[in-house]
Amino acid sequence: MTSKKTIISIQAHPDDAEIFCSGTLALLAQLGHRVVIATMTSGNMGGIGMDPKTTGKRRKQEAAEAARLIGAEYLCLEQPDGFVFDSPEIRIQTNQVIRQSGADVVFTHLPDDYHPDHRATSSIVESATLLTTLPNVPCDADPLEATPILYHTTPFNLTNHLGNPYIPHFYVDVSSVIETKKAMIAAHDSQIELMQVMFEINNFVDDMLDGHDRKLGTRIGIDYAEAFWQHLGGGFPHAPVIQKALGVNVHQQYYPQNANF
Ligand SMILES: [Zn+2]
Repeated sequence: MTSKKTIISIQAHPDDAEIFCSGTLALLAQLGHRVVIATMTSGNMGGIGMDPKTTGKRRKQEAAEAARLIGAEYLCLEQPDGFVFDSPEIRIQTNQVIRQSGADVVFTHLPDDYHPDHRATSSIVESATLLTTLPNVPCDADPLEATPILYHTTPFNLTNHLGNPYIPHFYVDVSSVIETKKAMIAAHDSQIELMQVMFEINNFVDDMLDGHDRKLGTRIGIDYAEAFWQHLGGGFPHAPVIQKALGVNVHQQYYPQNANF
C-alpha cells in the first residue's frame, strides 16, 4: 500500500456517512487520501410530499453535493430503501464497487446498529469486503491485492438496537472540521421536514451535532468527536491504518486483549 489510501464509506442511506463519519472523512481528505462515499439506497422512502422517484433523485443529488464539499466521489447501489436484504447479487455488486474503488479501507455501520437497513448493509459490506481478493468471484473487476481494512461507524447514542451501550475502539476529534461536517449534513435539506415528522427533530443539523458529536466529545473532554470500531475478528487485516493516519486526532484507543496488530 502507498502512504495515500483510498477510503470507501458504504452506508445504507444518503446522510448516514455525513452524520456518522463525515468529520473523519474530511480530515482524511485534507491529508490527501482519496474518499469515496457510497450509499446502499437512494433513500427514496425518506420524502415528505415527494414521490419515491423524485425523492430518490433529490437525495442522490444532495449526497453528491455533500461529497463534493470534501472532494469525494459519490455513488449509489440502488437497493430498495427500507428493505435492504442480503443476497448473492448484492454481495457481488458491493464487492465490485469496492474493487473498482481500489479501496484500502472500508467504513460501514456497526453490525448491531439500531436501524434494520444499517444492520443489513453492515452484513453485506462485511461479506463483500471478504471477497475482494478472490479471483473466482464472478464480477467485472479485477481482485484487489489485499483485503481492505474494515471499520464500523457509531450508531445513535452509542447503543445497539435494544439500547445497550457500546464502548468504541477509538474516538476521532473532528472539532477542526466541524463547519465542513455541518455543511455536509446541511446539503441534505430534504431531510429537515422528514426529521420533524419522524423524530420531532426541529433543527436537523444542530440536533445531529449536539446529540451525537458533542455528546461523544464531552466524554473525552473535546468539543466534537466521532467514534469507531475496527473489525478485529477473523478475516480482516488488523493494522490500525486510520488511527495512524489521523495521529493526534485519535483519542482513547481501546482494543480487546486479543487484538493482533
Ligand atoms: Zn441510515
